[in-house]
Amino acid sequence: MATLVTGGAGYIGSHMVHALVDRGETVVVLDDLSTGFEAVLPDAATLVVGDIGDEVLVGGLIASRGIDAIVHFAGSIVVPESVADPLKYYLNNTVKSRALIAAAVRGGVGAFLFSSTAAVYGEPTVDAPIGETVAPAPVSPYGWSKLMTEVMLRDAAAAHGLAYTVLRYFNVAGADPKGRTGQSTPNATHLIKIACQTALGQRAKMQVFGTDYPTPDGTCLRDYIHVTDLVEAHVLALARLRAGGGNLVANCGYGRGFSVREVVEAVRRVSGVDFVAEVVDRRPGDPSALVADSGLIRRELGWVPALDDLDGIVGNALAWEAALARRNSAPGAR
Ligand code: UDP
Repeated sequence: MATLVTGGAGYIGSHMVHALVDRGETVVVLDDLSTGFEAVLPDAATLVVGDIGDEVLVGGLIASRGIDAIVHFAGSIVVPESVADPLKYYLNNTVKSRALIAAAVRGGVGAFLFSSTAAVYGEPTVDAPIGETVAPAPVSPYGWSKLMTEVMLRDAAAAHGLAYTVLRYFNVAGADPKGRTGQSTPNATHLIKIACQTALGQRAKMQVFGTDYPTPDGTCLRDYIHVTDLVEAHVLALARLRAGGGNLVANCGYGRGFSVREVVEAVRRVSGVDFVAEVVDRRPGDPSALVADSGLIRRELGWVPALDDLDGIVGNALAWEAALARRNSAPGAR
């Protein structure tokens, strides 16, 4: 029994690899290191540097390493980039996922866990938390590229008996509480990371994109979820798949939202730094509120989040950002 984790050297993938290794599982990481880092991986995981779209490579790994489950994180994730370069997203996220699924089917891999996104819902018109019964309607090539993979999994499962789980992430944030890994991408655009970098003086100021949304304080609401809780949901989902649980498509969020202003205040509070957050115009394509209805995942997986606390998320993110800065300024740093 061994798990193949694609994108395992990336942000969420590396947390999953640690969680599996912590549980004594055998893990093979497949990552092309285009945005991932070998340094965040535990020694006990085997890293294979390669392309998830290489069916021969993946087929060989499945056969030679005894892979019985695939957890698929690898992909491109920047929404504006997907608008500017859609074919990159359809290649990296859709075409290569198709090759990976084909290798899984051919190799007899029984369990497939896929990281999808709330972006499949597009810009919901309802203000209530979003349940899985809301019809997907992506508004970006990124969202479409992920939804297409969900559809391929559904159809391949029906035809070939592959068992799968899709988790649709809301806003993943924070870092490993033990400090072993975190969000390492140099050009990240996510709010909590940007605010933490500003608090640490790595940016002179940050921007708040729009204060005229129909929300209590005028800024957008998002469901920020600690990456460690997200990974715990994956561990439970994987166990469920291995135990023969049926196919599942579930949201992964806490079911509550914080505004951009509340996040900025939390970062100021936790860091003790009163950094500048200037108000600018809306960023195109931001829905006013994206909050998960998380009933299904709690029921199906028995998932009980342990780290649902904004200040805690921010504290872990700040600690990781500071460690990253120290690492990058060390002699010989990449
Ligand atoms: N945001 C912001 N300033 C930033 C980055 C993000 O005001 O520097 C806002 C963004 O407009 C959105 C929210 O923070 O309303 C969350 O954005 P993020 O990019 O973190 O995640 P998204 O919800 O877009 O996936």
